[in-house]
Amino acid sequence: MEDFMPVKETIVSTCRTLVEKGYLMATGGNVSMRIPGRQAFAVTPSNFDYLKMTPDDVCVLDFNLQILEGMLKPSVEAAMHCAIYETRGDVNAIIHTHQVYTSALTLIKAPIPALFDEQVRFLGRSVDIIPYAPSGTGFLKNQVAKSVKNHHNAYMMQNHGALVFGSDMDRALDNVEVLEKCALAYLLSLCSERDVTKIPLAVREIAFSKLRSDQKKIEKRVTELLKNSEKSEDK
Ligand code: 13P
Ligand code: ZN
Repeated sequence: MEDFMPVKETIVSTCRTLVEKGYLMATGGNVSMRIPGRQAFAVTPSNFDYLKMTPDDVCVLDFNLQILEGMLKPSVEAAMHCAIYETRGDVNAIIHTHQVYTSALTLIKAPIPALFDEQVRFLGRSVDIIPYAPSGTGFLKNQVAKSVKNHHNAYMMQNHGALVFGSDMDRALDNVEVLEKCALAYLLSLCSERDVTKIPLAVREIAFSKLRSDQKKIEKRVTELLKNSEKSEDK
């Protein structure tokens, strides 16, 4: 029997941190992590109080969405998380929140351009709006799967919230904070009704190429791990 416990513990402690920092509210949002060396992931249960969650409440699913471990109903966005892991080999952790400033930008369909160096280095060239589709549906999953192919690490789902990725959970958590800082700064600058300046294009491209180079290394590692564990299963 495989030990999923370390991954489940990371998810529970991350949810707690996200609640404490005000990014997760009530039971909104969901958090997941790729299971190393497997076509599987662990995800938070649906509609569950984050502060009462224990590692045993976290669900483990394979990429066919079959439950490998856990008694509770997985998040309604489990298929969306799965599609992201399948599409993006460099993503090992996903955080979806309804964080307020980012959510506000989704209402006015305002993508965040390249405003800060660290934004592009960690989130991508811009933070784009994924067109509206109802929560927990195949429509949303399809919109997301299409949109994430541009290798960014943060997106905004129209009239919904934030979708943030990381090469590991710590990076995903940091990316949630970078995104919310950018969203607030952008909202404030929009309110001034003055021109919003961006970083120079050349700097944007250098920062993004660093992110892409990190992503390619992670993707290679994920693929190798999967191949090695499939080989050892064959023995
Ligand atoms: P779950 O509680 O099922 O994860 O749904 C919350 C959510 O944010 C849906 O988009
Ligand atoms: Zn949501």
